[in-house]
Amino acid sequence: MALDIAPKRLPVPEQSAEERIKNFNDVVIGYSIEEAVAESARCLQCKNAPCIKGCPVSIDIPGFLKAIKEKDLEKSWDIISQYTNLPAVCGRVCPQEKQCEGVCTVGRIKGYEPVSIGKMERFIADWKAEHGSKVAPKVPEQTKGNVAVVGSGPSSLTVAGDLAKMGYKVTVYEALHAAGGVLMYGIPEFRLPKAIVRREIDNIKALGVKIETNVAVGRSVTIEELQSHFDAVYIATGAGTPHFMGVPGTSLNGVYSASEYLTRINLMHGYEFPKYDTPTKESEKVVVVGGGNVAMDAARSALRLGAKSVQVVYRRSLEELPARIEEYHHAVEEGVIFNWLTNPVEYVGSETGNIVGVKCIRMELGEPDASGRRRPQEIKGSEFTIEADTIIEAIGQGPNKVLLSAFQELKLNKKGYIDADPETGQADPEWVFAGGDIVTGAATVILAMGAGKKAAEAIDKYITEKKAAGK
Ligand code: FAD
Ligand code: SF4
Ligand code: SF4
Repeated sequence: MALDIAPKRLPVPEQSAEERIKNFNDVVIGYSIEEAVAESARCLQCKNAPCIKGCPVSIDIPGFLKAIKEKDLEKSWDIISQYTNLPAVCGRVCPQEKQCEGVCTVGRIKGYEPVSIGKMERFIADWKAEHGSKVAPKVPEQTKGNVAVVGSGPSSLTVAGDLAKMGYKVTVYEALHAAGGVLMYGIPEFRLPKAIVRREIDNIKALGVKIETNVAVGRSVTIEELQSHFDAVYIATGAGTPHFMGVPGTSLNGVYSASEYLTRINLMHGYEFPKYDTPTKESEKVVVVGGGNVAMDAARSALRLGAKSVQVVYRRSLEELPARIEEYHHAVEEGVIFNWLTNPVEYVGSETGNIVGVKCIRMELGEPDASGRRRPQEIKGSEFTIEADTIIEAIGQGPNKVLLSAFQELKLNKKGYIDADPETGQADPEWVFAGGDIVTGAATVILAMGAGKKAAEAIDKYITEKKAAGK
């Protein structure tokens, strides 16, 4: 089928690979107005709009694209901001190929690429910040009730913004010194500039949301205190506790979890040493273990910090790689080397206890496991060693436990995450709602936001009914 539109999406300008590995600036430069208008014209304005169903916060995608096509950028912003409090973030880090763009009608036609929805969302959010009107949002009086939110990642920010718009007084408690969760301490500056995260958080604060940092709920404030002051509590404390391979040599100098490595770089400005006094190890030969976004971020950060060689070791193949495809392509362009079907079996140290290499074994794929992906199996006798002075493990994370261990009455599931209704986020006890990675395990920004959106509706219903019953 031939359509009267360009088959390929308009490429988005980016820093060249040679240039960008020398800095931590945003890799993607973004569309100009003319480019955005041209790309928006590729949208067919489908009546059934499958893209909306592919977006966990149900943004009116054809609506905001049509407004761009008509060069009414303020209207486009108004449409997007009805559905999301974090458009500049989502436009940058959503796995669009698995969400809105993955189901776009244009992309389903042979020879055509889906509309570049994520890049257009980012374009509008950035345009609004730089050129749009600065009129403060209209906020209803916040008299419907009081809600406490624990954690300040994307799930919490969504629930907080939505409840404030509905007329609730919301207080967010964050254990760290900066709000934003993984958006601040995990995803690096070159993919998600922190000024942009702060900008979107400021927009949420402008709705009346109060954010208190340096408060670890379960330690500095008890959950009982929150229960006595608030009508409901939303918990989105994330899955930030790193898992380790547990192979011999894990305690050698130079073996990091990606969590620690990236937090030092992002939240504590390790890449700006000595301006900020948080040194990160100077590495020449880095091996990153894992294949998700976290692994890509660690590998690409190591390159930018001056490593001569960065190799990723992943036990499955490219087909199963969980990272966003754009991040994988960027990593390859930047010179990261991928060792597919390979797993570490031992970290090798020097006499002084420093890491000097990683002994690996080749793998092959067997029958599918519980995740539906084919299970990797070791090929006997295939061991080999890669030289390394730094190992970064990025093999997954578990629940943040500070609050869970202090809140024994909270019902958890078999895996140790909060047991919450997938449609409403309501947990047990009933005044607690929960969402994001602390319910699902490590997932994505937009799924955490989708959970926050549903929970905001459910919390509103819960508090309204409770008040009507005079409780
Ligand atoms: P989080 O973002 O984890 O936030 C939880 C917050 O709760 C944290 O700030 C934590 O300090 C705070 N907290 C914990 N315990 C307490 C307590 N007791 N009291 C007060 N505060 C507490 N997803 C994507 O969609 N695209 C990507 O490209 C992508 N890249 C990623 C890269 C990295 C390096 C990492 C680690 C994750 C990435 N993800 C990505 C996953 C995504 O960031 C998470 O799924 C998402 O942030 C989960 O949001 P959340 O709100 O559930 O929790
Ligand atoms: Fe697509 Fe994510 Fe934007 Fe939704 S929020 S339209 S899934 S990029
Ligand atoms: Fe436009 Fe694609 Fe959505 Fe259709 S599915 S409305 S073409 S973005």
